[in-house]
Amino acid sequence: MNGLEIRKRIDANNRKIQKALNKFTLTDEINQLMQENADLRAHCPHEFAGTFCRFCDMPIDFKDDVI
Ligand SMILES: [Zn+2]
Repeated sequence: MNGLEIRKRIDANNRKIQKALNKFTLTDEINQLMQENADLRAHCPHEFAGTFCRFCDMPIDFKDDVI
């Protein structure tokens, strides 16, 4: 999975999270989507154009942390 694919997937998950929040959907679904985003970030090639990764939104400050 390359950076752009990760970007797309995280955007899609974030939209689902937003929808789920609006509908008061079970938090299980939200937790699952957030976990998937965390997994995607772990595989992201990270490309920082400023403060955040353009693919996964990870703050540059976290770059060297183990996630
Ligand atoms: Zn990234």
